[in-house]
Amino acid sequence: MTPDYHTLLLAIGLSGFCLSVTLFASWMSARVERFLLSWSIGIGCIVPAVAAYSVYFENPDLLLGCFAFLMHFVGFAFIYGAAYRFRTGRSGRRRMVFIFAASSVIVLPWLVAGYDGIGFIALNLVVAVCLVETAREYWRSRDEALIPLTGIVVFYLLTAVSFTLCAAVLIQDGQWVMGRAPDNWAENLNLVMAIIGITGIGAMSLALNQWRVAGSHQRAALTDALTGLLNRRALFERYGGEPVNEHRAAVAFDLDNFKSVNDLYGHAAGDAVLKVFADVLRDTCGTGACIARLGGEEFVVVLDRTLPDRAHRTAEHVRASFAAKLIPVGGRSITCTVSAGIAFGGSHCPSFDALFSSADKALYESKRNGRNCVSLVA
Ligand code: GH3
Ligand code: MG
Ligand code: MG
Repeated sequence: MTPDYHTLLLAIGLSGFCLSVTLFASWMSARVERFLLSWSIGIGCIVPAVAAYSVYFENPDLLLGCFAFLMHFVGFAFIYGAAYRFRTGRSGRRRMVFIFAASSVIVLPWLVAGYDGIGFIALNLVVAVCLVETAREYWRSRDEALIPLTGIVVFYLLTAVSFTLCAAVLIQDGQWVMGRAPDNWAENLNLVMAIIGITGIGAMSLALNQWRVAGSHQRAALTDALTGLLNRRALFERYGGEPVNEHRAAVAFDLDNFKSVNDLYGHAAGDAVLKVFADVLRDTCGTGACIARLGGEEFVVVLDRTLPDRAHRTAEHVRASFAAKLIPVGGRSITCTVSAGIAFGGSHCPSFDALFSSADKALYESKRNGRNCVSLVA
């Protein structure tokens, strides 16, 4: 073995080990991100695979070769599994087992039969296919974090190309039986590419993790924790500065005598009522509506491309469904009602703030009219 080759293998082992530890630590700090764990295990398996391979390079023993190959297959199956889990959230256990079993069945018989050259060709091709599939999974998730995910895809693809070149050189030389590990320019390039890939993917994985954490913080900052609806901040960020036309409606809702629900049945019962009302809004207003909890027992729904009739029907539907709901609290069922006020944009209501306070005025009209009803500002 040339010292260069040995150094490269050592570098792969070390960088692989460091990346595996880094991914493991990232997983420890965000346990929900299970893909980090699969990724860490996958890269972690490459370390003993490379160590066994470097011994095999000196001493081409069949058992050692089989062990090195098998560790590669376990490692790349986990690396693919991580990508699959990242995209789908599912464990992908069956796919990983399939990759491991198929790779072993395709490659190992050649090695055992003495056609180690064909075995190496098959190994390189199987790993290349696995890496391309891994890249494909990340590419399909690219909407989540375009820059780090594109970087990851590029590194996986370049590494796949370098494995393919190794196979191509062996095929071109017709080296079906070798009795030792291959040693040519493509192998050296492959090792260099593996080091670049591992360090590049390491950096990108950290960026990806940061991206995800920042995304989940941002989502949390814009979500109402009790109901899962948008909060006031999200609503104003979305519509605050926008002009409004006559096809945009705001419907303000305020639960009736809600304080007495708390007083009679307790705060937890009040919370349960708020959740039921949020569900009624979700079920009734459809996906096109923007639904927010402003705070307390006050909610607002913004409807776009709508006419007064339709807005009124929607609000009336919400009011009637909610009034009919039997809400279980502490072993009994209670009912509650809601009042609503509708306003439309236009020349009299050119801004979202104006639309909003108009809907509020309509809501107070409903309260004055005895509650459990809907009012519309002309
Ligand atoms: P009205 O029909 O005039 O709207 O009367 P109301 O009792 O609904 O109105 P009021 O503003 O007097 O009371 C609102 C109550 O909402 C007071 C407060 O304790 C309660 N509240 C605000 N936020 C929450 C919450 O997150 N959970 C629960 N359980 N209660 C809340
Ligand atoms: Mg209120
Ligand atoms: Mg109220």
